[in-house]
Order: sequence, then structure tokens, then C-alpha cells
Amino acid sequence: MIYFRKPIEGIERPQMEADVTIVGGGPAGMACALRLSQLIDKHNRRYPDAPLSKENINVLEKAREIGQHCLSGALLDPRSMDELLPGWRREAPLDAEVEHEGVFYLTKKKAHRLPITPPPMRDHGNYVISINRFTKWLGEKVEQAGITIFTGFAGSELLFDGDRVTGVRTDDKGMDKANQPKSNFEPGYDLKSKITVLAEGTRGSLTKQLVGRLDLDKHRNPQVYGVGVKELWEVPSGRIRKGEVIYTLGWPLTTKEYGGSWIYGSKDSIVSMGFVTGLDYADPRLDPQRVLQQFKTHPYIAHLLEGGKMIRYGAKTMPYGGWWSMPPLAGDGWMIIGDGAGFLNSQRLKGIHLGIKSGMLAAEAAFEALLANNFSAAQLKSFKEKVDASWVKDELWEVRNFHQGFENGLLHGLFHATLQQLTGGRGLHAIYTTEAGHRRMKHLDQLPADGGNRAQLLGKAKGDGKLTFDKLTDLYHSGTKHEEDQPSHLVIHDTNICNTRCVVEFGNPCQHFCPANVYEMEEAGDVPHGKSIHLNPSNCVHCKTCDIMDPYEIITWVPPEGGGGPNYDGM
Ligand code: SF4
Repeated sequence: MIYFRKPIEGIERPQMEADVTIVGGGPAGMACALRLSQLIDKHNRRYPDAPLSKENINVLEKAREIGQHCLSGALLDPRSMDELLPGWRREAPLDAEVEHEGVFYLTKKKAHRLPITPPPMRDHGNYVISINRFTKWLGEKVEQAGITIFTGFAGSELLFDGDRVTGVRTDDKGMDKANQPKSNFEPGYDLKSKITVLAEGTRGSLTKQLVGRLDLDKHRNPQVYGVGVKELWEVPSGRIRKGEVIYTLGWPLTTKEYGGSWIYGSKDSIVSMGFVTGLDYADPRLDPQRVLQQFKTHPYIAHLLEGGKMIRYGAKTMPYGGWWSMPPLAGDGWMIIGDGAGFLNSQRLKGIHLGIKSGMLAAEAAFEALLANNFSAAQLKSFKEKVDASWVKDELWEVRNFHQGFENGLLHGLFHATLQQLTGGRGLHAIYTTEAGHRRMKHLDQLPADGGNRAQLLGKAKGDGKLTFDKLTDLYHSGTKHEEDQPSHLVIHDTNICNTRCVVEFGNPCQHFCPANVYEMEEAGDVPHGKSIHLNPSNCVHCKTCDIMDPYEIITWVPPEGGGGPNYDGM
């Protein structure tokens, strides 16, 4: 029996009032808080007799410490930071400025360098950063500005009055596996808020609730995603230059899967490397963690890492759908910013600068709403107007059809991308449509039993313990920890489907697409096919792949008790 979180009914919950609650303390949420604080400071200097208070502006962050759950490549385009905090370079944790780039097409044995680096991959002037250290630093700025950040608090549900969002309920703490209160039980707060800003990152759980309840994905392309699986390596000095950026296409993926790698030379001979696999592949046995392991065995990559040591691991999904997949950005009492809304340029593989800018623009809309004392959709729609009038729209408009062009494989994709480049992003059609990635997964009986030319991508990696690793070894390097005695935060709505249909039709792809070994099929006597689903929720690195890629859409990721999750450092 799998238990899952159900809010306890009929208990008294503490109430708190807020003007603005920002759910999620990543770069977008922090930028929103900081910009709002700046605007209030400016207003209060100008109108000392009619000051606005910052006391009732809060950030909720599910991690125990700011930045602990943040993961990215990460390369920072400095554009939005220049607007948010002039002079920020002097104090921000920047590991290296990009000075060299190369793009390679890999075949099984060879690495072919493209003679010219395509303009979107040119990164001169960008910075190699650790996103979790950078976010921690941003969080310090927010706290210095007088805004409260509640760490270790997850938003478990949105509060509504009709279709108006009126705030957030935080997670109950101290529940046991059977969803019963323990002796240390503390009910969550009802944080009543005039404006709730959802900054939860990719596939946020509250954002998903809101999109579902208000039908926000109607008349839009479905959002599509990729999962980036990352390792941090310490390599012998001189192996890669500080500030060197390498991107690869091709092997080990076939021309039918979407994805590629990044390798960033950081300070102190640290290399950030990872592989992004598009979550729209056909073969349910494909395992993105294995794709990264396989990639490292390429002679070009293996040589780079030889004699080095893997020191950190993690994974995260990212939204690829672009402009046509973005939901409405604001409504009665709410706004959505950052990855949760799809602010990411999939052609450049960059979203931090867009997330930050989206947070800043949402802050400007929130500030105007506070002045007008009006939190309606009609007032908050100014957020979308600000996005439309900013460079964010210019950047995303240019690539509005980019990812969809690759739906039929690499060669079609390169054709469409070239055409789009020549037509300001249009290509063959005004709007390239798409379908949700999990719908492209095929039944096992439609695929070659031995995997055909994808065999190297399928099944779990075993690892040699030096260059390549199995999932549990990798996972150990993510620092992931959860309270064991709590309800599962992975909710499978019908485990019969796992044990009867999925086992036959898809071979339980959750075992493969989860990069943290959360899902296992165990031998069992009392089920028709002798295997039954078993979960290890404590392993979860909060990447959200399962919520996105499950072919029956029966997995829902909900936040575990606040504070649990990966402990990323330097990622
Ligand atoms: Fe990612 Fe889901 Fe696995 Fe957690 S359980 S690591 S969210 S795929």
C-alpha cells in the first residue's frame, strides 16, 4: 500500500496575513523579492508620509538552506543582473568568465568540431557559476533588504476564493508514513496573501494545481521538457581552461532523440558537465542517467576526465516549449515567474537571466498593484504587458518555434532551425505545434527487443566506479536526505496500472527515467506478472521527471516535509 499526503481535515491552522508571498526561493523568486524591495524603498524615500511596508512580503523556500535545491549548468548571461543590481560583479560568486567556446558533433569514436560556433552558442561575456551558491548570495541580498525568507517551508496547496487565489497553505510537519500525526506534529500555516507569486521552478506543484483548476493550458502548446543529469568533476590541472565552454551534439543519442551535453571549465580545475535528454523519446527503457554515463566513455570526454574524480551529482528538468507553451502569466491574486512559466531559451540552453528578469517584471506589477490596492486579473495583467514590452519577448520570440522543429529528429530539426534563423524565428509555419513528450513513448512490442541502435541508452548503468557510476553511487554525491517517517511525496494514483498494464506495455519506465532510483519493480507473488512497484521517496532529488514523463500520467510529485531534498553545493 502506498500512502500519500492528504491534508488533515478539521484542524485549526494558524493564519498569517501577507501582502505578497513568493513561493520558491530560486533566482526568479529572489529577483522578484529584491526588486520589490527596491521599488518600495524608492517610494518610501519619495513619499515618507505614505510609506509601504516590506514586513508583509515573504519568500517560502522548501529547502533547509537557500540555494540547496537549485541546480543548473550553470552559465549566467549577465543582462538581467546588470539591471537588478548595478555593480553586482564585484561581490557575486562568479567562478569564471567565458573566454573560449567550441561545439562538437560526436560519433561513437570521433569528435568533430564545428568550424564556426553558431551564434546562439557563443558565450563570451557570460559567467560560469554555481547556481546554488549564486542563489544563496542573492538570498543574502534579499534578507539584507528586509524581506523575510522562510526556509524549510513548502507550499502544499493554494487557497482560493472562487477562482481568486488568496494565498498558500504550507506543509504539515510531523506526519508519519501512514499519514497520521506524530508527537511532533505541527499543522501548516494558512498564509493569506493579496498576491501569490509562483516561482517554484519547472513543473511546480502549486503551479500545476493552478494550471489544472483554471485550464491555463487551453489553446496553447503543451509544455515539453528535458532532463539535465549533471556531475561535477575535479580534474588534473591543465585539462580544461577556466572559462572554457564545450557543447556536444550527437552520440550517444541517435538522430531521433533530442539532447546534448555541456562541459564548463570552472575555477580550481572543477568541471561542470551534464547531459540533457529531451523528455520526448520513444523507447521507455531509455535511461537519462545512463545516457550521461555512456557519454563519458567517448574517447574525447574520457580523456578530459582521466585521473579526475566525480564530486557531486544532481538532476533537474527544464521547460523547452518556449513562447507558445507559456500559460497566462497572471490572474486574480497570482502571477507565475521563472521556469514554472517556461521562461527559458532552449536554443541557448539558458534560463537564469530570463527567470531573473521575469521576477523583476512581476515585482513591478506587484508594486503597482499594492499602490492601487487592486489585486485583480485586470490589474496584474500588467505583468504580461511588461514582458511583452521587454527584451524577454524579443529573445523568446526569435526561438518560438525552435524546439518543435526537432520533433522528428536531428536532421529535420537542423533544417527548421536554419530556416527559422533566416525568417526571424518563423520557419515554415507561424506556429509550430507540438504534443506532450510522454505521449511519444511507444509500447515495448513496437520496439526492437534488443534496443537496435539505441541499445547503449537503455537500462540501468552499472558503472566502473571510476569514470561511470550506477545511480546509487551518483545519488550519494547529491547529499539527498529526507525524514524517512513521512507520507510518500510521490503519489501514484493507481498502482494497479503499474503492476498490470505498465509492466507489459512499457516495462515500467519510471525505473529508468528517474535519475535517483526512487522507483523499483520488486518480485511479488500476489500480482499477475510477479512484479510490484516499490518506492524509495527518500532518494528523490526533486527533478520532477516522473511527474512529467509517466505515460499514464498517474504520478504526482508533491513537496515532502519542508527541508528534505538534495543538498547541492557548488552545483
Ligand atoms: Fe525526479 Fe521523480 Fe525520481 Fe524524484 S522521484 S528524483 S522527482 S524522477
